[in-house]
Order: sequence, then structure tokens, then C-alpha cells
Amino acid sequence: MPAQLLNRLERPVSAPAPRLWVPKHVVVTRSAAELPHTAEILRRVEVAGVTDIDFLRADRLTSPKGETEREAYARAKATLAVVVAPPSQLKPQPIPPSADWRLDLARGCPAHCQYCYLAGSLSGAPITRVYANLDDILAPISTLTGHGTVTTGDAARGIEGTTFELSCYTDPLGIEHLTGSLATAISRVGSGFYGDGASLRFTTKFDAVEPLLELPHGGRTRIRFSLNAAEVERFEGGTARMPQRIDALRRVAQAGYPVGLTIAPVMPIPGWQDSYGTLLSDVAAALDGIPDLDLTAEVITHRFTPSSKDVLLNWYPRTKLEMDEASRTAKRSKFGGVKYVYPRETMTDLKGWFGEQLGERLPGARLLYWT
Ligand code: SF4
Repeated sequence: MPAQLLNRLERPVSAPAPRLWVPKHVVVTRSAAELPHTAEILRRVEVAGVTDIDFLRADRLTSPKGETEREAYARAKATLAVVVAPPSQLKPQPIPPSADWRLDLARGCPAHCQYCYLAGSLSGAPITRVYANLDDILAPISTLTGHGTVTTGDAARGIEGTTFELSCYTDPLGIEHLTGSLATAISRVGSGFYGDGASLRFTTKFDAVEPLLELPHGGRTRIRFSLNAAEVERFEGGTARMPQRIDALRRVAQAGYPVGLTIAPVMPIPGWQDSYGTLLSDVAAALDGIPDLDLTAEVITHRFTPSSKDVLLNWYPRTKLEMDEASRTAKRSKFGGVKYVYPRETMTDLKGWFGEQLGERLPGARLLYWT
């Protein structure tokens, strides 16, 4: 590994520990307060130093108020709510092209990415809601294993088994120090608690992987890191910096986890070939020499919808993020929704470049999909 990169990746004794989110406010709903996993969450919350913990008399969360929208947003983002996932959210949904099924350990994320995909998919105040009925959430793994239309039985991806995606509506590693839910899920699936043939997958922009390294993961959880060019990283407030994410990738790969790159959202910024080339080379150097490396890549270009743009401009009114409909192509879904993607020529350039460069710089990586 080049000395310069080694310096950036190695975490010497004096280097900062992973940045861990500490909520300013914690609220616990009445139903959640009765569940045993809540006791563990509260223990962790207290260890983190939170003193503002409110036990609600009912199950309904009210949206935090502020003098301005910005204040209300900031208060919501600083709030962790411990809630019970309702029955409607316990039924896993298919989630192509990532996985057979989606399982939600939480909804919401404490980070401040100015392009956040949750803006278009979650409504209401951006409170991070963590689920106390963890057993209910994980229970469908046993009944759904063997069923699915994305990886189960697929010629190319069938080796992954029946896959359960944990990071659709949250960044599970970003809140793991406060919940422990991820470690429970990884250990149970890894030790066959729900039978054989299931695997978990999640993607993260955080780096606090230490508590996961010694878990009995059984190679059944693929940990992917959301990586990007330095010019895009500046839109990702409250997350771990890129060298720390790449270092965390190296450490989980060394611990025997299957790993992956979620290169997203790809943006054709000026000089994008150089910037993304540097990223791929940094990853290649970090993973060099790791025995039995199982590496995948998923590449997702930036897109937005009219509603996600509205929400994001409300949250980040001064953002420099390009969301100009005129320079995009409108793509309609079969349900009539519209999303704005890059024009065909740009997509062709990006797709061709990533296909070629992944093959050249990370020849061991399997590209799972491009979108
Ligand atoms: S880390 Fe992911 S979920 Fe969290 S704010 Fe950023 S894009 Fe959204």
C-alpha cells in the first residue's frame, strides 16, 4: 500500500475514535417502554451521556416545533425515538435490485446528507425512530428464506441466498452504539438462529465497526460502505470521512465479512474520472492482500423526484447540490411517478467508465448492478 494512503487509512493510537452520534433528546413511547430491548437501548443512551429522556404516556410522536423550519428540522434530527414498529411495517417488502426483502431496524438517520434519499421516501419530521420490537422485525427471516425474486435462485446472485436489506430507511451502523440491534441481527443470522440460507446486507457511511468485528457473523452479512468522490463527500454532513470509511471496510473484510462498495450517488462533477479513479485506487490499496476477499460493487447515479427536491430544499436551502430538471431526463415509473436522472449520453459515459475501471482497478469485485 502506498505510504501516503497508509497514513490516511491506518488509525494510529492518537487518531480520533469513530464519530458517534449522541442525540440531544430521547423519547420512549408507552408501548416501547414495556419491551426488553428498550432497556438495552436506554442503557446505551445513558452511557452515551443523554440526560433528556422523556417517557410518553401514549404511542403518538409529535413533530418537534421550532421558531423556524430550520429549528424544527434541527430538533427532529437531534431526537431519537424508541417506538414499536406497527404490524404494517413488519411485513418485509421486496427491494430490487438490492435484495429479496427489506427489514427495517429503524426509520430515519441522524446524518445530514444534502441529497438524502430518505427525503423522498419517509414523510414527517426527520426524527430517528428505532424499533423496540426487534424480535418481531427479525422473525420473518425464517419464513421468507427460500423465497424471493432478486437473489434467491438467481443464476448470478443465488450464492447470496435469500437476502434481507437492513439499510433502506436508515443507516444501521450510525445508530448501532445506541441500539445494539444490528449486532443481534448479525449474530442470530450468522449462527443459524433463523435456519440456513438467509443473508443480511446493509450499507453505511459510518465507521464504528469495532463492535461487529468479533461477532459470529458466519459470512452471512455483507457490509457495504457508501463511498464517493471527495467533491460529493462535502454534501454528506455528520458522516464518517471517506478515509475512515475505507479503513472500516478494510477492517470488516479482515474480520471475514463479505464486503461491498455502494458507490452512490455518482455525479458527473468536473474531472469525475480522476476523482472516482482516486476513490477506486484508494479502495484497491486498502483491500490489497486480504485473503479470501468477497467484494461486490453497486453503482447508483444521482436522481431526485419533485417531492424529494422540495423536502431537501426545505432542509438545506443553501445547498449547492445540482437538482435542475432542465439538465436531466424525466423517467416515469409504472405508477406515474417521475424521477430526474442524468441524460442518456451522460449515463452511457458513466456506466462505461465504471464498468471498465472497476474491472481494471478492482478485478476481484463483482458488479451487482448499475442504475
Ligand atoms: S447517511 Fe444515508 S440515510 Fe443518513 S442522511 Fe446520509 S444519505 Fe440519508
